[in-house]
Amino acid sequence: MGRRPAPAPFPAIPPRDRLPRMSHPSNIVHCAGPGDPHAFDGISRRHRSGDLDRLCPVCSGHGQWNSQIDLISHRSIRVPCPKCDGRGWIETGADMVPSPDIALSPDGRPMWVVRLDPSDDIE
Ligand SMILES: [Zn+2]
Repeated sequence: MGRRPAPAPFPAIPPRDRLPRMSHPSNIVHCAGPGDPHAFDGISRRHRSGDLDRLCPVCSGHGQWNSQIDLISHRSIRVPCPKCDGRGWIETGADMVPSPDIALSPDGRPMWVVRLDPSDDIE
């Protein structure tokens, strides 16, 4: 006849003065997307480049947003906008859109090139 083991006790909550202390104050805010209040803190709107037609509706021209920002130190983790690939502007017509890309140079080393693609945002 085995007895069921007693349920494990809740882990003890350490007294407040034994909690690990942060070395500096921080107030980290997480942003789920570009619509969150601090998503564009510290990020300025991109200048229009080339013939792109319209501010990106997703990032409103910023090209990226904070996925996480510390409101005290202003350190942030940013994500590039998938809609405009970080350009902040989108092409709505038939013009080609430049995108950074990596290609092999003639001597076989990777290098940055600008690739032109048809816009995927034709309306
Ligand atoms: Zn965008």
